[in-house]
Amino acid sequence: MSAAASRDALAAVDDLLSPLTAIRRDLHANPELGYAEHRTAARVADELRALGLEVTAGVGGTGVVGVLRNGASDRRIGLRADMDALPIVENTGLAHASCRHGVFHGCGHDGHTTMLLGAAWHLSRTRRFDGTIVFVFQPAEEGLAGAKAMIEAGLFARFPMDEIYALHNWPELPAGEARTRPGAIMAAADRFDLLVEGRGGHAAQPHTTPDAVLAASQLVTQLNTIVSRRIAPSASAVLSVTRIEGGSSHNVLPASVALTGTVRSFDAAVQNRIEESLRAVAAGVALATETRIDVAYTRYYPATINDPECAAHALAAAKIACERAEMAEHPSFASEDFAFLLQAKRGAYLWLGQGRGLGFGNGDAPLHHPSYDFNDAIIGRGVAWYSALAEARLSA
Ligand SMILES: [Zn+2]
Ligand SMILES: [Zn+2]
Repeated sequence: MSAAASRDALAAVDDLLSPLTAIRRDLHANPELGYAEHRTAARVADELRALGLEVTAGVGGTGVVGVLRNGASDRRIGLRADMDALPIVENTGLAHASCRHGVFHGCGHDGHTTMLLGAAWHLSRTRRFDGTIVFVFQPAEEGLAGAKAMIEAGLFARFPMDEIYALHNWPELPAGEARTRPGAIMAAADRFDLLVEGRGGHAAQPHTTPDAVLAASQLVTQLNTIVSRRIAPSASAVLSVTRIEGGSSHNVLPASVALTGTVRSFDAAVQNRIEESLRAVAAGVALATETRIDVAYTRYYPATINDPECAAHALAAAKIACERAEMAEHPSFASEDFAFLLQAKRGAYLWLGQGRGLGFGNGDAPLHHPSYDFNDAIIGRGVAWYSALAEARLSA
């Protein structure tokens, strides 16, 4: 796609940028946690109604769905954005910083919501498509599976669609660039919680109680060998122990020690092997140290798997909306609950660059960092991407 086509696509949405930036900053200043996006959902529903869309609120908690029809075709495309913020204390010093201490749009979902509203605005006025566009504004992406809640509330049965697409802003990529890939793009995320129980006792009498601290230490080192020793080097996975908690004094052996961590993977066989190995390590350490080790293993988000054809459609639209768009070589080890939507429906997920390339500015700060801010300079790109995708998939 030529640079001229990209300029035309951006010019077509240029008049929307000022009001959309105001909406984005209003959402940023008023962040809401998962399933509590009441103000945000009301704002989204109001904006969609004002554009003449059919709006249904309360889909899977605070989810909102808007439907826009044009022409006679029965083809249908879904476009999704997430609306929730994170429990982080913002440290940006920006004029539009959060008014709610400890709640922060540290992942840019304020930007995603704004860009999808912008697409609804643009597509409802240009109507260069034949079919139905379903705009999906989901709650609770950050660990609370809002996408799953919307599916369980009948999302695909009540609002049929053939394909569904989403994007995420990507600080590591320069603003104006985009990446996607066929197959796995985001990892499956699992959580494990281990409780090591001894009996507790005097530190000077170690022979009288199983040592929960020592057992926990052995667990940490053994768990870190699972990926390196039991998973093929050609496969990809991560296991990190992230929290270890126990003990209260220098002269007391604690009765218990708790460990928490996460596992990321892309392939079900690898995921199964890691869980099975983790349980075996826990059983072995328990036996060797005469402790009791309880294992809770939770698979909370599956891997996000792009349909190869849909990834190609997403890339083609990104070539219209962005200066540079390519297939990415590697997936990310972060996770995303869009995975649930892609398990139920073919589609694709795209990374939209938002780094300013000026060092550690707000647009360059990593996702979930207290200094992060969504880069308003990419609003037009996101609006153009959603719009170009809908127009291409529903071309007359
Ligand atoms: Zn996030
Ligand atoms: Zn996010």
